Amino acid sequence: MISGKQTVSSYVVMLDGGSLETMELTAAQAEGLECLTCKAQFATDAGDSQPVGRIPSVGSVFQCIECVGGVR
Ligand SMILES: [Zn+2]
Repeated sequence: MISGKQTVSSYVVMLDGGSLETMELTAAQAEGLECLTCKAQFATDAGDSQPVGRIPSVGSVFQCIECVGGVR
């Protein structure tokens, strides 16, 4: 995880599929730098993350491939 971006706030996340959900996320998660579920930090250019929704006026949020795919 990114130690400088662990401030937790409430965000309204627009999930893919159209539903709105209020989630407690760290700044790093809200900015799409960490997995929404496990807080794994994404490499900048690797295909290890998948967009799962967006926060209006903030940006897209992501999950790592392991979390998107469920148990592996
Ligand atoms: Zn994950």
